[in-house]
Amino acid sequence: MVDLLQFHDIIIYKKNTLINKNGCEFIKNNDNFDKEKAYAYIASIFDSASFVEMQSCITSLLKFIEYNPKHKRWICRELTDSMVRYCSPYLFASLFSDKSDKNIVIVPPKHSLIMFMSTCVPYSKSTVLVMEGLRKFAERCCEFGEPLEASITEDEIRSVLDVAQKKFQILNIIAPKKPLKILMFANSHSEFDNECGITDGIDREAIISVYHPREITLHDRVFIFTHELGHALHMALTNDIKIMPYGFDEFSGFFAEPPKTIEEKQEAFANAAAIAILNGSELDKHLPKGFNKNSADWFNKYIKFVIEQHLSL
Ligand SMILES: [Zn+2]
Repeated sequence: MVDLLQFHDIIIYKKNTLINKNGCEFIKNNDNFDKEKAYAYIASIFDSASFVEMQSCITSLLKFIEYNPKHKRWICRELTDSMVRYCSPYLFASLFSDKSDKNIVIVPPKHSLIMFMSTCVPYSKSTVLVMEGLRKFAERCCEFGEPLEASITEDEIRSVLDVAQKKFQILNIIAPKKPLKILMFANSHSEFDNECGITDGIDREAIISVYHPREITLHDRVFIFTHELGHALHMALTNDIKIMPYGFDEFSGFFAEPPKTIEEKQEAFANAAAIAILNGSELDKHLPKGFNKNSADWFNKYIKFVIEQHLSL
């Protein structure tokens, strides 16, 4: 097994001398497979700080594989082994509840990128599946852009979770076994502010992907993250994002503009939860401007009600 850290010092050298040459020199080396070059290509992927950089490194690796077809299996195996090894501290931490750390695992951008890659590239013996996954991942990298504004910080995330936990014991509901995993990314996404998901099965895990703002926006980044927590709460309460939590239709009937479609209802619930979490806390400066405090108290009552109802089942 090769420790990728060993290659850290030579990556920059390799990047300048090899990766920026469109892979032409590999034609010459076709019959003379150079393992060190292969390692340098793999290492450059693990050294990427953003999706843009990652895409160029994957494209170079695919080209390298194309010129060294006999060694395809070995390269794919090294890559997938490294993928698991690189993320293992966070994957390991994700297995256990740690109440002293509020039951969360915050993954920094470089590791988040590899974890994201592992959702496209399977840990498989089949080179076809690994190569397909790499191409798919390179395509998905196009969904991400350079950040325009600073993202929410780890400290701000911890403050939100602190408030949400104290007020509603929210982590006991969305992360009852495995910790809530928060993937921090150094890019913006073309379509989403942040994303949230809960895996299926008894070993369920809630994951929030945090991106940089995609435009110079009036939305508050703390509010956006708390809204995502609202989606996670919804999924944990009903196990199906298409089913609204108990009493939501009656509750939202009082809104000035009641949500009609399921998508509008999902967004309205996430906003109601975010408002309920932030209202009356040290973070309430992050509530939408001009928001009526009486309405916020109703949101508080409703969210408290659905959570108590859920916990009593
Ligand atoms: Zn939303």
